Amino acid sequence: MNLNILIDIFYILAAILFALGLRMLNSPATARKGNLFSAVGMLLAIVATLLVKGLSFQWIIVGAVIGTALGIFAAQRVAMTAMPEMVALLNGSGGLASLLVASAVYHHHPESGALTALTIFLSVLIGGVTFTGSLVAWGKLSEKLPGKPILYPGQQIGNIALLIALLTCGILFTLNPAGNYPIFLLSILFSLILGVLVVIPIGGADMPVVISLLNSYSGLAACATGFVILNNILIVAGALVGASGIILTQIMCKAMNRSLSHVLFSGFGAVPHPRTEGPHGEVKALSIADAYFILEAARSVVFVPGYGMAVAQAQYAVRELAKLLEANGTEVRYAIHPVAGRMPGHMNVLLAEANVPYEQLVEMDAINRIMETLDVAIVIGANDVVNPAARNDKSSPIYGMPIINVDKAKTVFVMKRSLGAGFAGVQNDLFYYENTRMILGDAKQSVQNLIAEFKAGRST
Ligand code: NDP
Repeated sequence: MNLNILIDIFYILAAILFALGLRMLNSPATARKGNLFSAVGMLLAIVATLLVKGLSFQWIIVGAVIGTALGIFAAQRVAMTAMPEMVALLNGSGGLASLLVASAVYHHHPESGALTALTIFLSVLIGGVTFTGSLVAWGKLSEKLPGKPILYPGQQIGNIALLIALLTCGILFTLNPAGNYPIFLLSILFSLILGVLVVIPIGGADMPVVISLLNSYSGLAACATGFVILNNILIVAGALVGASGIILTQIMCKAMNRSLSHVLFSGFGAVPHPRTEGPHGEVKALSIADAYFILEAARSVVFVPGYGMAVAQAQYAVRELAKLLEANGTEVRYAIHPVAGRMPGHMNVLLAEANVPYEQLVEMDAINRIMETLDVAIVIGANDVVNPAARNDKSSPIYGMPIINVDKAKTVFVMKRSLGAGFAGVQNDLFYYENTRMILGDAKQSVQNLIAEFKAGRST
């Protein structure tokens, strides 16, 4: 068989596996299989690409060795809580790779036609923005940069001027790539600067949208690079990542009840808002022994996990407590807010790790419909996603964001270490509500204490 036909068959098979894999990621029950399908697809794509005639293997081997070593090192060192930062860096690496590949092609073939020049420019533009934008997102998530939006006078005009300068460079470069090397270098510089400038004004609770948007950009950059090197599978894979990233961005915007333009241009919570409404007064702390008595009598309990559960790595303890509750005849559910944690699907991943049955996971709208009938809502390290200010306080920066209405349950336990704010930096009036009881301390420790109390209670 002709080698090119074999390569194309491999590519088509890989594309089918990618699409099937993505489809299976739709449900937690099939997600692992979906990952496997996509991985096999990627293996086929790599093998097929290595079959292309005239490849210089020495550089491929050098790249593969360095990449593998870095990958193993990074994956082994990263703490589970730092996964969101790692995902941000991986998005950025995708963007940088596209920028470098397109630049190398241009460097070796500056005489390319207008269409290739255009795709080179797009790879550099989108790749550059993705790279530095992801670095800023990484800085914000890891708290190495301030999480709040950075705003300054003339910011939007400055960004628009930079975009116009970039588009002008793009036109000049596309019309005459061979004679415009300096313009090409300028395009790289402007793209890198634009990436920083478009992400610094976004912060607080809007960050999930940025993460998913950058993920989509990394796919679009790869897709553009696929056109540069005329590699069909890169075009397909890049388009799939780009499209799924856009869909995820829409889901995140819906979860925040914000439009994309609002997220990109409004500067979340940059202006401090006075607290105008909401209850004030004393918080009511609850001892573990009293918490046990309430739970022991509860017929229905919902766990509402948030970022603090990831920090405390409390998911296994939560699952163990849930089993004890079930053994006691209590109906247990887990309510998942779409932006809980620090990356899309963060809570689902943690709970799946602890083997929580998928059918006990309930989405926000569904749990809110029955919240008033539930005996106890146990908030485990969640804060922004249960803050009633989003519903009640028009002056709050998170006003309008849909939340899990734990305050409507008969009793609410809040497990966290202090009365401090969450990622968005907004105070939470839930702690002062009549039906709220605070269990202060590390979430894992508190849940383990409850487990011990349950076990002691059972044996007496
Ligand atoms: P929050 O960040 O609002 O709150 C987490 C809470 O966990 C903190 O208030 C903290 O309180 C508590 N906590 C931390 N460590 C522990 C511990 N060891 N034990 C117990 N509690 C602990 O988390 P949510 O999940 O409620 O909300 C997510 C926020 O992150 C939203 O604002 C969302 O927009 C944003 N975000 C989400 C992304 C996503 O894709 N999901 C991406 C980027 C941002 P204390 O210090 O008192 O213990």
